[in-house]
Amino acid sequence: MDRRTLLKLLAAATLAGCGHAQESNRGLKVVVAGAGIIGASIAYLLAKSGASVTVIDKQGPATHASRGTFAWINATWAKQPQHYHRLNQDSVSDWGELQQSLNIPIRWGGSLEWFDGAEKQKKLAARIAEQRDWGEPARMISAAEVAALEPNLEFAADAVAAFSPNDGAVDPVLATNTLLSAAKKFGAIVLHPSELVDVSMSGGRLVSVETTTGSIRADRLVLATGAASDLPQRIADIDVPQRSTPGIIAISKPMSRVINRVIVAPGIHMHQRDDGCLVLGEQDGAPQTKAHADRLMKRPNDFPSPAIAQKHGQRMLKIATRFVPEAAAAAIDKTYIGWRPLPLDGHPVLGTNPNRKDVYIAIMHSGVSLAPIIGQLAAHEIVNNTAIAGLELYRPTRPFKRVKGY
Ligand SMILES: Cc1cc2nc3c(=O)[nH]c(=O)nc-3n(C[C@H](O)[C@H](O)[C@H](O)COP(=O)(O)OP(=O)(O)OC[C@H]3O[C@@H](n4cnc5c(N)ncnc54)[C@H](O)[C@@H]3O)c2cc1C
Repeated sequence: MDRRTLLKLLAAATLAGCGHAQESNRGLKVVVAGAGIIGASIAYLLAKSGASVTVIDKQGPATHASRGTFAWINATWAKQPQHYHRLNQDSVSDWGELQQSLNIPIRWGGSLEWFDGAEKQKKLAARIAEQRDWGEPARMISAAEVAALEPNLEFAADAVAAFSPNDGAVDPVLATNTLLSAAKKFGAIVLHPSELVDVSMSGGRLVSVETTTGSIRADRLVLATGAASDLPQRIADIDVPQRSTPGIIAISKPMSRVINRVIVAPGIHMHQRDDGCLVLGEQDGAPQTKAHADRLMKRPNDFPSPAIAQKHGQRMLKIATRFVPEAAAAAIDKTYIGWRPLPLDGHPVLGTNPNRKDVYIAIMHSGVSLAPIIGQLAAHEIVNNTAIAGLELYRPTRPFKRVKGY
């Protein structure tokens, strides 16, 4: 049986039940720490599978990476190597199913991507050829084709771009809240602010999860705590090395449509959500000044003042208008700093420390793209107390090697 078939089978098993939680799992008490998009997806699938789920978050749903994210749903060339690309491909197609079942608005239509400089463009074309070998319908397209897809885009007549037609973009805060609401319909409880501080064990088994709002009896704990890098060591006795990096996301008020798909241009990426909000993300990060470096040492989740937030938003909008002049009409409404949960080797961390089997870790980048499939895989492993073959490469026990990219 190939991996895709296996995933589909377990998805069907987990999602079965015609909207009813599975009674056989009703006794299993699971606390999910972290109400970002990963915790929300796992909580939804666990609750749907019949587990008694409590979600806790030290701040609130989608207040960290799942708020300050570009939220591009993709399996593009940067997702390397092939096994990781495949995981993303599967998840992109699972987003379509989730969109239908939970009515989450997603703007599909694909992405356009290109670089400054012949050398980088040559590498991009080589990666796109590789994508095609891996079953992704991506291709390099001419300026005339780009113009047909994005009439408002300023694009050099002699240039080419990578077009990945399967990609989409979502409002990550709306998606997270929708998943949590769906989990609540299956009996899940969502508590915030409530911070995980410790676990109580007896005879090597988890008994309860200790939080700032009290003790919660639990058979399993899920650590979906994103970039909070000390927690796996402290709670699960295993180090999950991260190299979390910051990014800025600026979101406009709803405006008339200026672009149709995700655009990844030199220095800026942008998409316009279904609700008309233009979303800007930075390719290279804020200017590297001493003031920025000093502030970033403290890993802020917000800007020091609304004026500074607006300044960054305007700076990014100015870059965006080089490519889409009509974007100048955008009124920047929100500007966020997001810290990427980024395991050292760039791949998801999914599973347990064999010496702490009741604590399941789910930490990753590309968590927006991956949320649907990660929810299914994690819920299946937790509820059935099993290990899915094929996920060995993502276990927290693997040797972590730093890789370039992401
Ligand atoms: C700038 C930027 C751009 C990105 N762009 C993309 C993209 O285009 N596509 C894509 O797929 N991915 C993208 N990502 C990555 C993606 O956003 C993340 O992988 C995803 O949001 C991670 O979700 P999460 O639920 O694991 O983490 P988070 O959303 O960070 O949630 C973790 C939660 O844990 C809570 N928490 C932490 N410690 C505790 C504790 N002790 N007790 C209780 N709660 C706790 C926090 O409050 C937080 O709410 C981007 C990320 C950033 C920052």
